[in-house]
Amino acid sequence: MRLGPSAALSDAGHRRRRNEDSFVREPPLFAVADGMGGALAGEIASRLAVTALEEALHSGPPIDLVAAIREGNRRIQERSLADPAAAGMGTTVTAVLVSEGTLSIGHVGDSRAYRLRGDRLEQLTPDHSLVAELVRTGQLTPEEAEGHPQRAVITRALGTDANVEVDRFEVAAEVGDVYLLCSDGLTTMVGDADVRSILLRKRTSLEAAVRALVAAANAAGGEDNITCVCFEIVAGPSPAEETGELPLPPAAATMLLPAEQAATGWNDAAPTDAEQTIVAAPTTPARTVPTAPPTEPPLVTRRHRRHRKLPYLVGFLVLLAVAVAAGLAMLSRAHFVGADSHGRVGVYQGVPWELPGRIHLYRPVYVSPVLAVQLSQPERLRLFDHGLHSKQLALSAVRVFERELVR
Ligand code: CA
Repeated sequence: MRLGPSAALSDAGHRRRRNEDSFVREPPLFAVADGMGGALAGEIASRLAVTALEEALHSGPPIDLVAAIREGNRRIQERSLADPAAAGMGTTVTAVLVSEGTLSIGHVGDSRAYRLRGDRLEQLTPDHSLVAELVRTGQLTPEEAEGHPQRAVITRALGTDANVEVDRFEVAAEVGDVYLLCSDGLTTMVGDADVRSILLRKRTSLEAAVRALVAAANAAGGEDNITCVCFEIVAGPSPAEETGELPLPPAAATMLLPAEQAATGWNDAAPTDAEQTIVAAPTTPARTVPTAPPTEPPLVTRRHRRHRKLPYLVGFLVLLAVAVAAGLAMLSRAHFVGADSHGRVGVYQGVPWELPGRIHLYRPVYVSPVLAVQLSQPERLRLFDHGLHSKQLALSAVRVFERELVR
């Protein structure tokens, strides 16, 4: 088994003037970093993160991915402090080091690593995002999470905390596996089913695969920067066995996981303690907009039913009208704080839900220059707690941070 072909492509997309994503394609190291911040800061942050990884690769082995990611975090913070224009910048990072038959993964934020094995696509990394946490705790369905106004709110990033928590884990590779690292500019535009079918269709040429993935994200609107890095595990002797060169550098011992974590891998059904600690049980409003039909009346004969149908129907219509009126009244008064797809904090009128058919029960009423990534984790959890407020309360909560963060 050895590392086979790889390909990478990064594109600014249709809406952004700049590309703030960075990536590494230096086999056996691959990484994607999605930078955020004003002006050039996002580019600086993602570039600092991948440079720290590349330097670790060139000074290794052994390569400690987590130490390299933490070093990137340290440099971003240092730069933020030294340069007011870069204050508050941040970046995600998802890095993979391939060593023998094992992938070591280091991960912070909502960029993703996927594996295509056979015809099955699996997301290997958990999203460190508010909506992913709400899905994990059962407060949102995966369908509601797509297109949610708070989906760009990440709960962990490099650059925001001195002691960034880095997820680290290993997965065993198999011959034929195709791996994809990507920024959320792909995954917010292209669903998993389409990513899977593109990879299946183009797996014979990874260059074609990354081009097709970026094209699909742009065809869907290209609202964000799009970065895709792909590589494949193939049969055959490793280059070391073939040429007598040094084997691939081993991953540092600190990458090893407890056995049960390595066995289950990461998935939404099995959150770790670390993930659970950052979910401060956001309060969620009860759904009050009725969508369910009334329950069936008790079993009666067909003849009886005809006589009793009318009162049931009238009763139901009255209840429906009352519920709709109450729901509309609540929607018009309720406000919550969220963030748009650019990560800008805003105030939304309504409730943070969607009905089937992508009917949003909210609309933005105010967009702030504050970026969600500029807020610390406790601040984010407090601000986006899904509690419903009056417009005034929601606006003043946002303005506290504007006075502090926007110069
Ligand atoms: Ca992005």
